[in-house]
Amino acid sequence: MIRMWSPDLDGPLDRALRAAMVETQIVQRGLRHPRVVAAMRQVPRHLFVPGVGRDAAYEDRPLPIGDGQTISQPYMVAVMTAALDPQPGDHVLEVGTGSGYQAAVLAVLCREVITIERHPRLAERARATLDRLGFGHVRVVVGDGSVGFPDGRPYQGVIVTAAAPAVPVPLRDQLAEGGRLVIPVGSSGYQELVVETRTASGFTRETREGCVFVPLIGQEGFAD
Ligand code: SAM
Repeated sequence: MIRMWSPDLDGPLDRALRAAMVETQIVQRGLRHPRVVAAMRQVPRHLFVPGVGRDAAYEDRPLPIGDGQTISQPYMVAVMTAALDPQPGDHVLEVGTGSGYQAAVLAVLCREVITIERHPRLAERARATLDRLGFGHVRVVVGDGSVGFPDGRPYQGVIVTAAAPAVPVPLRDQLAEGGRLVIPVGSSGYQELVVETRTASGFTRETREGCVFVPLIGQEGFAD
């Protein structure tokens, strides 16, 4: 479908495309976390996609956002958000702001979102998009998120939207007890989604589905 996009518009056609995306790419694939599904129906993904890619914003794939980076596939955003299972009172850290879309979805679901991006240009554009859409309370930080953001700890949730060879130790350490870390772990071409939960005595780990993410740059230390 070829059409003109207005930079700030979330019109009836956009909403219809988004509802269809959520139904066919997320709900029909078995992801039924009601709050996550509702948040993804609400947040206008197309307004986070720059340039011509916007026309494909409701297709089931990552799209380029500049600086060699991507906005993640909607299904993977839903899977990772459901794995994090953020609650209304939670403080959550996202590593890898990119377009700001995942941060907006999180902001619908929890109390505080801090998101870190290493590319200043991406962070600036995400900041502007989030402000325009009423997500001014999301804190966007420029820096190396592989060491987390100690100022905001402890977090009930940490979500990393870039791939690491193993779990970065500082991110684990910034979790509250009961908090969850969701991160793609593996090689540069293929990873598995890892969910770690901090307990009173250590960490539990679950390995979920396969995925492919751009690399997390600049890690300091790993848990294994
Ligand atoms: N969550 C994003 C969204 O909703 O658009 C998509 C993130 S994109 C797949 C991964 C992002 O992680 C890129 O923007 C990349 O620059 C960023 N990144 C990679 N290593 C990083 C690091 N050490 N600290 C912060 N951001 C990092």
